[in-house]
Amino acid sequence: METRELVIIGGGSAGMAAAISAYDQGIRDILILERGPFLGGILNQCIHNGFGLTYFKEELTGPEFLTRFVNETKKRGIEYKLNCNVTSLSRDKVVSYISQEGAKQIQAKAIIMATGCYERNAGAIGIPGERPAGVITAGQAQLYLNEYGYLVGKKVFILGSGDIGLIMARRMTLEGAKVLGVAEIMPYSNGLNRNIQQCLIDFDIPLYLSHTVSKIIGKGKLEAIEISKVDEKMRPIPGTERRFECDTLMLSIGLIPNNDLLDNIGVSVSSTRGSKVNEHMETEIPGVFSCGNVLHVHDLVDYVVEEGKVAGLGAAKYLQGQLPTHENVLYTKAGEGIGYVVPSCIDLANAEDKVQLKFRVRKPRKDVYVEYRLGDKVLRRMLKPAIIPSEMEIISLDKKLLEGEGELTVSLVEKEAK
Ligand SMILES: Cc1cc2nc3c(=O)[nH]c(=O)nc-3n(C[C@H](O)[C@H](O)[C@H](O)COP(=O)(O)OP(=O)(O)OC[C@H]3O[C@@H](n4cnc5c(N)ncnc54)[C@H](O)[C@@H]3O)c2cc1C
Repeated sequence: METRELVIIGGGSAGMAAAISAYDQGIRDILILERGPFLGGILNQCIHNGFGLTYFKEELTGPEFLTRFVNETKKRGIEYKLNCNVTSLSRDKVVSYISQEGAKQIQAKAIIMATGCYERNAGAIGIPGERPAGVITAGQAQLYLNEYGYLVGKKVFILGSGDIGLIMARRMTLEGAKVLGVAEIMPYSNGLNRNIQQCLIDFDIPLYLSHTVSKIIGKGKLEAIEISKVDEKMRPIPGTERRFECDTLMLSIGLIPNNDLLDNIGVSVSSTRGSKVNEHMETEIPGVFSCGNVLHVHDLVDYVVEEGKVAGLGAAKYLQGQLPTHENVLYTKAGEGIGYVVPSCIDLANAEDKVQLKFRVRKPRKDVYVEYRLGDKVLRRMLKPAIIPSEMEIISLDKKLLEGEGELTVSLVEKEAK
């Protein structure tokens, strides 16, 4: 069997950033396995701008952003294989894949998972009514339009106000389709504020908050949909139905880490549905790392590449024998009002002086403290005038603060309760 020092699964932004950082740390035997025909992952279809503001301090389109990483990957001579689908992993790091060469296996010394995420589809929410053609996820519609040149419909309704749906509302409008509206079951949008402004408000596209699609109508091809207001339990309220004649229902109802390869070998999963990792992005299997959207869904690619670099550095240290097995591990916990915290644990013996935590709140809140606690001891409280689930929060804590007993909990605390 072929052997490799480092195999990276997925050649999107996270995978390329990880490869570049492992190379710069001295690892030379690196192979990226990518299922698609190009490096770059989802960014190939994101032809809008807004990428790179944090990382490059300039505004780029998705393809411009990814090209910089492709160039850096090629400059270093990092090897990659395209059209190469990884089908399974084993806990002792055998990677099985299928490509035009046939079915192959590689024994890796370290592995980085960077397989991105997938979209929730119609099957996940079971909308009542017929099952005609014309119901499509927003990312799939984006792929058809931006990579293959097909406009999937002319009269479009969008369910879910995630960023992909918002971006597609604008994109379909610019291509001559009529976007009738966006229904969002929550009383707030799930997209970034800048996308609400630039993709809906600027194009007079109505956003129906606390609404869902309650019926799909059409024999063979979609003819219309009905939306209804929802109650506090998110059930459609009878008598509030509104009908929209349309040929396309686009779904933007969430992204899920594409973590099956690690799931299938029983690697512990966190509430993000990605694997549990420490601050090096290392899973519970020493030498197996995970980063980018397969770990937790990011809103900005800039943070994806930062995380890929951390995973690449971790893998390099592991291969160079500088990442001994975890001993003094501190666990993190999502407390009141917090959806998740990454990493799930911090390997204090091997951690850098500053430890970074990423988290999201469960619902929008105003004037709350974000509190960091170690056991019963409050380490830090920060007042947030506004905090929303669609924007990932990042904080760095001094490692020195983390010596002590108990879990490291992130919670929201009401201003008065302080
Ligand atoms: C529509 C859309 C709009 C966005 N807009 C913005 C924006 O305006 N600004 C911004 O900063 N960010 C934006 N983002 C977010 C950002 O682009 C992504 O978070 C980031 O690119 C994800 O990188 P990744 O490497 O984790 O995943 P991906 O880019 O999805 O890469 C994963 C790669 O893994 C490969 N793969 C998966 N499974 C396998 C397998 N079994 N074997 C081999 N290969 C496999 C896939 O083919 C893919 O190439 C947007 C994302 C989307 C989807």
